[in-house]
Amino acid sequence: MKPCPECGAPMDPRSCDELFHALLALDHSRQEPWGPLHGVSVSCFLLQHPSRVPADDGAMAWALLRAYLEGGLGEVNRLVGRARRGNSHRVKGEPSRVSRDAALPHRDALRSRFSVTIKDVAVDGTFPAVEFTQRVEAWAAATVEAWSCET
Ligand SMILES: [Zn+2]
Repeated sequence: MKPCPECGAPMDPRSCDELFHALLALDHSRQEPWGPLHGVSVSCFLLQHPSRVPADDGAMAWALLRAYLEGGLGEVNRLVGRARRGNSHRVKGEPSRVSRDAALPHRDALRSRFSVTIKDVAVDGTFPAVEFTQRVEAWAAATVEAWSCET
């Protein structure tokens, strides 16, 4: 079976889609460690599967990952709070360079370039709680790194 055309992960035994649905189910249980990392997980998945990114969410996903890597979940929560208060994702301050243009122009050049994919985060397909946070952090870092190389 061919690897995922977007993130490069093997599709066997479970596709990225199936893994993503399993992860969302855990997120929605609102339990630690998955629940609090929901936004980060979704952002990683979307940015590694650019065809899924809705028109504007690329910018938000990108800003969110950058915030997470810089300041952890506290920074993510501040960013989400600001975005909710404003009408736009263009929040005054640092996210202005995190525009959609910065995040999405190279979607065809990204294949197989992520050093960590959802497959690695899933481990055996169940997203074990042990070291989940560390794996998500590596996932976020690999995602941002792959995009940053192109800009
Ligand atoms: Zn994939």
